[in-house]
Amino acid sequence: MADLRELYQDTILDHSKKPRNFREIPGATAKAVGHNPLCGDRVTVYLRLDAGNIADIAFIGQGCAISKASASLMTDAVKGKSKSEATRLFERFRKMVTGRPGDPIDASLGKLAVLSGVCEFPVRVKCASLPWHTLEAALEAKQETVSLE
Ligand code: ZN
Repeated sequence: MADLRELYQDTILDHSKKPRNFREIPGATAKAVGHNPLCGDRVTVYLRLDAGNIADIAFIGQGCAISKASASLMTDAVKGKSKSEATRLFERFRKMVTGRPGDPIDASLGKLAVLSGVCEFPVRVKCASLPWHTLEAALEAKQETVSLE
């Protein structure tokens, strides 16, 4: 278990230091801004949608290691997926980070499992879920700004 935790930590650090898909998308078909005032995390998610599929996704922003790593892992995880697949993935992700330590992890979460330890730190749950709430807002195109109170 200790080895697994170390591996998870390494992956989180790697993604926070070298975030994947960290850029703007010129001419994005959707975008939303997320803010977590509790921690000061800010993220802007850009999407290029093609026939209901996420053809491209990228983000910019600043925040703690957890929020950055989560945004980076999220963009990798949902690229190429349909809107509804991304929404279902968010549901499973939310279940994981709000679950109890030791709960079995849904295997379909893949690499996102590295953030499972977040459930032990309730104050970090918003950091990890901010990028996902922002993605949801961009997909629904209902609101441009999300603030997690
Ligand atoms: Zn944070």
